[in-house]
Amino acid sequence: MSEPMFLSRDKHPISRKDIDKGVLHILYTLKDSRFRATLVGGCIRDMLCGLKPKDFDIATDAPPEKIRRLFRRCYIIGRRFRLAHVYTSKNDFVEVATYRGPVDQDAKENQMHPQANNTYGSISEDALRRDFTINALYYDINGFSIIDYVGGLDDIKNKIVRMIGDPYQRILEDPVRIIRAVKYAAKLDFNIEPVLLTQCQNLIPELIKTNTVRRLEELYKILNSGYSAPVFKLLHKIDAINAIAPQCDKNIDLLITRLRLLDESIANGNKFSRGVLIGLLYYQRILGALHTKQAQLGKRIDATSFYYDEFTPIAISISLPKVDREIMRSVLMQQDIFKNPYERSFNKKRFVQSRNFKDAFDLFKILNNADENSEIFEFWYDLIDKIPPLPDKPKTKKKANRYKRKRRKPPVK
Ligand code: ATP
Ligand code: MG
Repeated sequence: MSEPMFLSRDKHPISRKDIDKGVLHILYTLKDSRFRATLVGGCIRDMLCGLKPKDFDIATDAPPEKIRRLFRRCYIIGRRFRLAHVYTSKNDFVEVATYRGPVDQDAKENQMHPQANNTYGSISEDALRRDFTINALYYDINGFSIIDYVGGLDDIKNKIVRMIGDPYQRILEDPVRIIRAVKYAAKLDFNIEPVLLTQCQNLIPELIKTNTVRRLEELYKILNSGYSAPVFKLLHKIDAINAIAPQCDKNIDLLITRLRLLDESIANGNKFSRGVLIGLLYYQRILGALHTKQAQLGKRIDATSFYYDEFTPIAISISLPKVDREIMRSVLMQQDIFKNPYERSFNKKRFVQSRNFKDAFDLFKILNNADENSEIFEFWYDLIDKIPPLPDKPKTKKKANRYKRKRRKPPVK
């Protein structure tokens, strides 16, 4: 491997002022205990691109057990490769990983997450295991320099997403890297390096074979990211939408317009339930098809059974949990009432105070954002002023049922 590149503090813009206090505390605690402590990954990439990082990841040469002993609230997670979660407040933690060595080829097969099989290694080996050069930059708390083993600094300057190593092999190792490449290119407005782009396109069948739960997680990350529209545009370009949201709405321009509205809303601080996010992708696929069928038959049909018939096979194929399917059903089924409030007679109070009203109205706003000032919106805002929707249920723990009979353990023979 060629010599790493060091960028001293005066040659890069990353300041300790941009790093959370709790994160700095962890870095200094490790350093004061004579361990190497570095920030790595997305946080460095984003800061170098002038963006606020979503979170900070720490990598160190301290083994997990040593990390645990250094911090008051620290839990070790993971079976094969153990990571430390160091809490910086009641609910916030920072992931502290020990540098990883080369992949153990024997242990590689049949892993849900290929990152899961590991042995510890040096910082330079750790860099080579990461996916893209722009994700493998380290900020060393000792001296505040940036260390680059893979040419990531040049790639950030030239706006390129480049795989570390051979793109074909690295995608075969973990095809979800296709989605990740697209995600970073879209978010940062970078180009995907041509060989990587070709392999992303060629290896989509491999992506389709990966674990559906992991793909669904990536889909949620994209939808919640605030830049879902450019990501979907690029996914469409490489023909990968089907691998992440199979059979979703076909009219890509309309879908992108909606996702743009979703991105704007997320940028304004709004949060959406998973049922709403998926509902947005399948709106036309379900409700459009329902309306077409009703028009063909010339009568209303049972929308709920239609939804189950149409969407259940898709939901199963993407491992969408039943709770999210139900929220999605409920919010989709309410859209017609939102659209035609004068057409039907319905109990207004019961409707506004129904369980998923807020989610359903969120979806309605995105689907119809263009006419936010229309008469229909005025109707709904007036109604909500008069009948405030019920607040979201606080998430309380279920109380134990004092009267529930306890199952006795069978006597030991
Ligand atoms: P985001 O802003 O999406 O969180 P990120 O770069 O922080 O971007 P994470 O998924 O949080 O992404 O992962 C943290 C780091 O771990 C990445 O920057 C990368 O170095 C490494 N990494 C994550 N997933 C993979 C993967 N599938 N293959 C190789 N390295 C990975
Ligand atoms: Mg991250």
